[in-house]
Amino acid sequence: MTLGLYLHIPFCSSICNYCNFNRGLFDGPLKDRYVRALEREIRQAGRGEAADTIYFGGGTPSLLEPEEIGRLITACRGAFDVAEDAEVTLETNPETSSPPRMEGFRAAGVNRVSFGVQSFNPDELRRLGRVHTAGRARDAAAEARAAGFDNISLDLMMWLPGQSRDDWRQSVEALIEVGPEHASLYLLELYPNAPLREEMARAGWSLAPDEDAAEMYLWSLGRLEDAGLGQYEISNVARPGRRSRHNVKYWSDGEWLGFGCGAHSTREGSRWNNVAGTGDYIARIDAGQPVGTERRTLGRDERLEDALFTGLRLVEGVDLASMRNRYGVDVWAKYGTALAPFVTDDLVRLEEGRLRLTRAGMLVANEIMAVFV
Ligand code: SF4
Repeated sequence: MTLGLYLHIPFCSSICNYCNFNRGLFDGPLKDRYVRALEREIRQAGRGEAADTIYFGGGTPSLLEPEEIGRLITACRGAFDVAEDAEVTLETNPETSSPPRMEGFRAAGVNRVSFGVQSFNPDELRRLGRVHTAGRARDAAAEARAAGFDNISLDLMMWLPGQSRDDWRQSVEALIEVGPEHASLYLLELYPNAPLREEMARAGWSLAPDEDAAEMYLWSLGRLEDAGLGQYEISNVARPGRRSRHNVKYWSDGEWLGFGCGAHSTREGSRWNNVAGTGDYIARIDAGQPVGTERRTLGRDERLEDALFTGLRLVEGVDLASMRNRYGVDVWAKYGTALAPFVTDDLVRLEEGRLRLTRAGMLVANEIMAVFV
C-alpha cells in the first residue's frame, strides 16, 4: 500500500482560544532544533518504501522558512520512494503568506496549499482570536495563485459563537468568490476548558440552535455543489480530481507514517504515536532514543470497526465486498439488523454493494456509527 507521510509542525504565532491541537508559541531557536530533529527522524525511519503524499500539518507549518520546508521534503524523498507527482500539502495561515514566501514554498516542492481561513467575517475572526483579517485571507489565496499553485484549499468553520445563518452564507459566498479547488467545512468543537467558553459566557455570545446548524450545513453543501465543489466527505468538498489524496488515506483504510511530536502512524494493522512534547521529542532524537510509543496491533474487529467508521465519512461509503475480502466479515449480516431503522428513515443506503450515509444521515453520523461499537 502506498504510504502517506505526515509531518507535524507544532508552532503558532499566537494561540487561538478554541484550539486543542498539539502546538505552542513560535520560538526561533527551538524551531531550528525541531526541524533538524524532524529531518533526522525521517531519514532514520525510511526504508525506501513507496509514498505518494506529504502533508505538513500543525500548528502552523507555514511559519517555517521555505528553505526548511525544502529540506524536509528532500529528507522524505531521500528516505522514501516518493512519487514524482506526489501531492505535497502545506497547511498555511494567511498571516504567514507573502508573494516571496509563496514562491519559495512552490520552489521547495509544495504543490497544494491549505489555508486556515475559518471565516470571512471580521467579528467572527476576532471572537476566535485569529490574527488575520478577511482581506489578508483573500490576498494570501491570490499570492498562492500568482506563485503558480493550482491546488488551493480553504477551511471554514461553522456554528461559531454569534454566527447567524446569513453570516455563514456570506462566508461561503466569499469562499466561492476566491475560487479554491477544495474546501473543508468544520463544525466548531468546544473542548471543556477552551478559553472561548469563558469569553462566550462573559460576552453573551451563543451558538445558533441545532436546527439552524443543520440548515447551514445542508445549504452550504448545495451551494458549493452548484459552484462546482462536490461533497466527497462529511466535511470536505472538491472540484473533480482535487480531493485531498492524503486525507483520503485516513478515510479509506490506508496507511501513513507520522513524523514529529505527537504524530500518529498506522501501518500493517499497527498503530503508534510519537511523544507529544516538542522538547521531549527533540531530546530523544538528539540522544538517539525512540520517539514512538509501543506499537499496538489492532485485532480484526477493531480494524473493521475503524474502516467502517472512517469509510462511512466518504460520500461513496464502503464497498462491502472489499470489507469481506479484507476482514472476512459480512458487514450486512453482522450489523444489518441494527442498521435497518436507519435504512427505513433513509439515513443509510445499501446500493450496489456499497453502504453509505445519505446527506441527512451525515447530520446524525455519530448516532449511526454507534452501531459498530
Ligand atoms: S493557528 Fe491553528 S493550530 Fe495554531 S493555535 Fe490557532 S487553531 Fe491552533
